[in-house]
Amino acid sequence: MLKPREAVRVLKSYHPPLGNRQGLRLDFNENTVGCSPRVMQRLRTLDAEQLARYPEREPLEAVVASHLRIRAEELLLTNGTDEAIHLVCETYLEPGDEAIIVVPTFSMYEIYAAATGAKVIAVPAGEGFRFPLDGVLARINERTRLIAVANPNNPTGTLASTDDLLKIAAVAPQAALLVDEAYFEFCGETLLPEFRKFANLFVSRTFSKAYGLAGLRIGVLAGHPDQMHFVRPVSSPYNVNSVALACLPEALADQAYVQQYVDEVLAGRERLERELQEWGIRYWPSRANFVLIYFGSQAIAFISAMRERRILVRDRSSDHGCAGCVRITLGSKLQTDQMLAALREALEQIGIRQKVRG
Ligand code: PMP
Repeated sequence: MLKPREAVRVLKSYHPPLGNRQGLRLDFNENTVGCSPRVMQRLRTLDAEQLARYPEREPLEAVVASHLRIRAEELLLTNGTDEAIHLVCETYLEPGDEAIIVVPTFSMYEIYAAATGAKVIAVPAGEGFRFPLDGVLARINERTRLIAVANPNNPTGTLASTDDLLKIAAVAPQAALLVDEAYFEFCGETLLPEFRKFANLFVSRTFSKAYGLAGLRIGVLAGHPDQMHFVRPVSSPYNVNSVALACLPEALADQAYVQQYVDEVLAGRERLERELQEWGIRYWPSRANFVLIYFGSQAIAFISAMRERRILVRDRSSDHGCAGCVRITLGSKLQTDQMLAALREALEQIGIRQKVRG
């Protein structure tokens, strides 16, 4: 019988709860209002001839590089951040190597790293889900070939400092340090140009979140040109499809649309965090477009009370250290109004009393 590799046979799979997502989708950290109308206009102009041709990635890489103020040879467009992670794992990891992740975090680092046969070392976050610099430093050795950090992190919303990340880059030159900035637009802090000083540093970005293009699958991997030279051939030359490539310049050009959305999300995040304080509910201050909240044994009741009001939020109970935690994505001002109204009703329904006003 045909047998897959051992590392693949024991691989965990990622099962996002995608079925039946009727209602307001505050469960996947997506953009909740959709992309710029300019992208939709461009989509409608596409013709059969454009779909018949193989996509040409390079001209768009120049456009994205100029937007990021880096050189085209320093980046690769990818099929979402997921592919960027996959490519870094495929380029640097061999069976027996070690890959360090900080848990809880986004699942795909572990999955792609483990698929290569590398050993995944999970370092637990510190108190309040703070980035565990000392814990990571303690696990670095000569077998460490990848360190993957989501910054801000998902599902906690916490941010590792640039100093901490660069310290890691400096002490582990034998390891690729992948800093996943999927939520950059909501946070504003980046390590992007630092790969010029630290050739083992990679930074990824995505158009799935603030830009509202999760369905088109477009991401960016940026790094030192000497390293990108090795990563690029590992990807398919046609990894980003022509519809995505055609839409990308419009998405980038409409910065006002993205900024407006980000501003509404940030205002909503502040309102949600204030509301939670008033109810005396524990949450972790977030730098991203979502907030992780502790409901303890009432987590499932809260999720279903929100679902009854057609608002989808995400159970994160099975993530490391997240028992009883629920993650809520923020959207537009109107959606935040709707979410907060439902949240108040849901809290009363499950028997939580407001501390400040009530
Ligand atoms: N990185 C992080 C930290 C994420 O939270 C997500 C989406 N949940 C991704 C990457 C996936 O992004 P993409 O759609 O670009 O593959």
